[in-house]
Amino acid sequence: MQESWNSEKSKDLYGISHWGKSYFNISKEGDLQVHPSGKPAQKINVHTLTEDLVERGLRLPILIRFSDILHSRIQLISNCFEKAIKEYSYRGDYKGVYPIKVNQERHLVQDIVKYGEKFHLGLECGSKPELLIALAFLKSEEAFIICNGFKDSEYIETALLSQLIGRNTVIVVDRMAEVQLIINASKKLKIKPRIGFRCKLNSQGQGKWIESSGAKSKFGLTPSEMVSSIALLKKAGLLKSIELLHFHIGSQIPSIQSIKSSVKEAAHFYTELKKLAPALSLIDVGGGLGVDYDGSGASDSSTNYSEQEYANDVVSIIQSICDERKVEHPHIISESGRTLVAHSTMLIFNILGANEILKSNIDFKVTDKDSRLVQEIFEIYENVGKHNVNESYNDLVEKKRDTLQLFKYGALDLKQRAKAEDLYWASATKIQKFAQQNKEDAGDIYYSLEAELADTYFCNFSVFQSLPDSWALKQLFPVMPIHRLETKPDKRAVLVDLTCDSDGKIDSFINISEGKPQKYLEVHKLLKSQPYYLGVFLTGAYQEILGDLHNLFGDIDAVHVSINKKGYMIDHVVEGDAVTDVLSYVSYDKTILIEKIRKSCEHYIQEESLTRSEARLLMKHYEQGLSGYTYFEE
Ligand SMILES: *Cc1c(COP(=O)(O)O)cnc(C)c1O
Repeated sequence: MQESWNSEKSKDLYGISHWGKSYFNISKEGDLQVHPSGKPAQKINVHTLTEDLVERGLRLPILIRFSDILHSRIQLISNCFEKAIKEYSYRGDYKGVYPIKVNQERHLVQDIVKYGEKFHLGLECGSKPELLIALAFLKSEEAFIICNGFKDSEYIETALLSQLIGRNTVIVVDRMAEVQLIINASKKLKIKPRIGFRCKLNSQGQGKWIESSGAKSKFGLTPSEMVSSIALLKKAGLLKSIELLHFHIGSQIPSIQSIKSSVKEAAHFYTELKKLAPALSLIDVGGGLGVDYDGSGASDSSTNYSEQEYANDVVSIIQSICDERKVEHPHIISESGRTLVAHSTMLIFNILGANEILKSNIDFKVTDKDSRLVQEIFEIYENVGKHNVNESYNDLVEKKRDTLQLFKYGALDLKQRAKAEDLYWASATKIQKFAQQNKEDAGDIYYSLEAELADTYFCNFSVFQSLPDSWALKQLFPVMPIHRLETKPDKRAVLVDLTCDSDGKIDSFINISEGKPQKYLEVHKLLKSQPYYLGVFLTGAYQEILGDLHNLFGDIDAVHVSINKKGYMIDHVVEGDAVTDVLSYVSYDKTILIEKIRKSCEHYIQEESLTRSEARLLMKHYEQGLSGYTYFEE
C-alpha cells in the first residue's frame, strides 16, 4: 500500500528548512520553489523555470543564478554589522570587500558591485588578474580595493597608480619582501601607498581549510617581521602609510569559538601595532564566515553560529579589547565571499537512466534441479527474520564469495550465477529491512548494506567540472529532486556522473534526522514519459573556477535570472564550452581535425568502401560534434 505523502514530508526529508534559509520551499503541487528575495510572496518555480530554459534552447546541465539572492545576501551581511555596531555603540564603521577569487564571473561581480554600492562594498583581489578586474569594475571612492596575495612590482605599481583615478586601494603586505618593493615603487612613482599588514595568528582555524593560519601559514608577518617592516617604512618616511591590520584564518570556519579566539588575538595585535604606527585605523578580519551546507550545525560543512552572531562577536571583541587598551575603535572590514555568493547559484541536471540492482522480489522458482548453492541462498532468503539477522548476513556474505569462486572454476553456469545473484540482492534487501528495525544489534549491517543496495542513477554532469569540492574535500552539498515532491521518493540511489572516473559520483548526502551523512539519496522511480531533474544547491562559491576538464567535459551553460512583475526574466545567458573550445585547450585545431577526417574519407571513397553520401553524412556528424555541447544531448 502506498504510504500517504505530501510536499511537507519531502521538505522535511531533504532538510530544506535547515539549509535553505528563507530561499527555498516546495509548492503544494510538489515543485521546488525559490524565493530569491527571501520573501515568501516572491517565488519562482524551479521546475517550470528549468523546462522554460530547455524550451529556449539552453542545455542541461545548467547553472542558474538568482541575482536577487545575491542582493539579499549582501544586504544581510551589511545589516548584521550595522545592527551590531548600533547595539554595542561601536565608534567605527563597517565596510565589506568581496574576494573576487570566490567567483570571478563577470555578471556576478557586476551584480555584487551594483547591489553593494549602497553599503560601500568593495573588492578584494589575490592576484594581478583579479586586481585588473577590481580596478575596472569598482569605481566607488568610498569602497575599498584590498590587495592580497603574491605581489611583484607590476602589481604594486598598478595598485599605487590606481589611487590617481580615485580608487581606494590598500596594499596588504603578505610577505616581508613586499615592504621593500612597496618603498621602491612609491619612490619611483612619488605616490604615498596605503599599506596593511597581514598578521600570522597563532589561533588556528578549524575544519577543512585550517592551513591558512598558524605560524607556518603561507602568508602573513611574524611579530618580528612586523617590527622590522615598521622600521623600514619609518626610515623611508612612510610610517603614516600603515593604515590597516589584516588576518584571514581560512574559509568555512565551522565553529564560532575559533573565530572568537582569532579576533581576540588580532585585536591585541591591533592595539600593539597602533602604538608603533599611529596612523593605523582599519582592522580587516578576512573571510571564514561559513555557510551551513548540511543544516547540521555540527560538521565541517556547517556552522554553529549565525551571521548575526558572527558580526556581534567581531564587533564586541574588538571593542572590548580597544576599550581596555584605551585605543580608538578601528573601522572594520571583512572579506566574506562564500557567504555572499554560495546561495545564489544552483546546478540542475537530468537523469539519463538507472541501474536498478534491487530485485526485492523473486520472480522465478528454485527447485532441486538448481545448484546446491542457489538452493542454499534461497534458504537464507526464506528463513531470515528478526531473530537471525546477523547470522543470515554472515551466511549470505559467504555464499556470495562461493558464487564467484564456483563460477571461476567453471562449476556454475551463467544462468545459475544470475539466479544466485538475484537471490543475493533479494536476501540482502530483506536482511536490511530487519536490520533497520533493530539498529541497536544490527546497525553495522544496516549501514554497510545502505550503499550496496542503493540503485545507481546516471547523471548528466561532471562532478569534476561542477562540484569539485564534493570530490576533493568530501564537502556535502544539498541535493534533491526539483519536482514530483508531492509523491514519495521511494527509491534510494547513488549518483554517478558522465566521466569514466570511479570518483565521479556523489555518494554522501545530508541526513537531518540522523545528524550524520547517509550513503544514498531518496529519489523517485524514473518514468518513461518524462525527464527527471535533480538540483544541487548552494554551489555559488568556488566550484566553477576550481572545476576542471576531466574527460573534456567543459563549462556548462549558465543563466542569470531576476524576479520581475511577471514572475521572472532571463537577464544573461553565458553559453558553456563547445567541443571545439575544450579541444583547443589541449591544442587541437578544428580545421586540422576536419582535414584529417576528410582525407580518410577520400581514401576510402577511392577504395570504394565508402559512398559519397556516406562520406557526407560522416563529415556532417563530425562537424556537428565539434560545435556541440560536451554533455549528453537528447
Ligand atoms: C579566500 C579568501 C577570503 C574568502 O574567504 P571566505 O571564507 O570565502 O569568505 C577572504 N580573504 C582572503 C585573504 C582569502 O584568501
